[in-house]
Amino acid sequence: MALDFTGKEDYQKDFDPRAHLDIQYTPEGALVTGGYLSFMLKNLFTTFASGAIRGDTLIDIGSGASIYQFLSACEFFREIIASDYSDRCLQELEKWLKKVRGTFDWSSTVKFVCELEGDREKWTEKEERVRTTVTRLLKCDVTKSNPLEPLTLPQADCLLSFLCLQSACMDPESFCSALRNITSLLKPGGYLVTGGVLGASRYKVGQKVFSNIVLEKDFLESAICDAGYVVERLDVLPRVDMTALHVTDFKASFFLVARKQTVVK
Ligand code: SAH
Repeated sequence: MALDFTGKEDYQKDFDPRAHLDIQYTPEGALVTGGYLSFMLKNLFTTFASGAIRGDTLIDIGSGASIYQFLSACEFFREIIASDYSDRCLQELEKWLKKVRGTFDWSSTVKFVCELEGDREKWTEKEERVRTTVTRLLKCDVTKSNPLEPLTLPQADCLLSFLCLQSACMDPESFCSALRNITSLLKPGGYLVTGGVLGASRYKVGQKVFSNIVLEKDFLESAICDAGYVVERLDVLPRVDMTALHVTDFKASFFLVARKQTVVK
């Protein structure tokens, strides 16, 4: 049965960020068993370790309560700004940053990235590095032409965004429009580093089911080019394991690096 679109108001009202982390990012979680998480972590590691993408400010769009996307990037930027539409997500993220007891345990994820970097034992230092680099948590709405309204920030050197636009948008047109909106936050010549899932129509958080637009690789690539980027890398990993199909029906994970053109056609 077709699922009704769930938009920002559903996220604000019904999205339980802790339940989302528990069902997706624990060792049995759908994004872990399906191969998404390790694929993102490895790609983020190689992308930032190459040294080409670095700078002053990085903005993450639709952070949820996740920190995995910061683990490699935090070594290459002075400041990371996290953002989301949902206040509860930002509160849950803030709790982790402030080391409030009982928040989600990311340590196995952090250790995995430290191992990629050559020293698994440095994971507590890495967590501290994330805590000092993520300096601001901002409300954001990708459906607005300035997603950080009422703030106007200087354009960032890099944008991250994982699993957000495909959840926030109702159809391909609104996806393209949201992509243009977030691109306004990025300097010409800056990089968009993004990832998500292909072929997914839904995912469960507690008893609530959230909709996704079903992304395909070709559409994604053309949407990114139409938004004024040159795609530098687009990698796809077919879903590794189907056991958590009742949680989400994604078919593959994608990781994409694109550079915003300096002269937009
Ligand atoms: N990036 C995180 C969270 C992905 S879940 C991760 O990879 O785990 C999708 C996120 O998009 C949710 O946190 C949700 O609150 C956010 N979101 C939904 N609609 C949005 C909108 N219009 N603007 C900004 N964020 C939105």
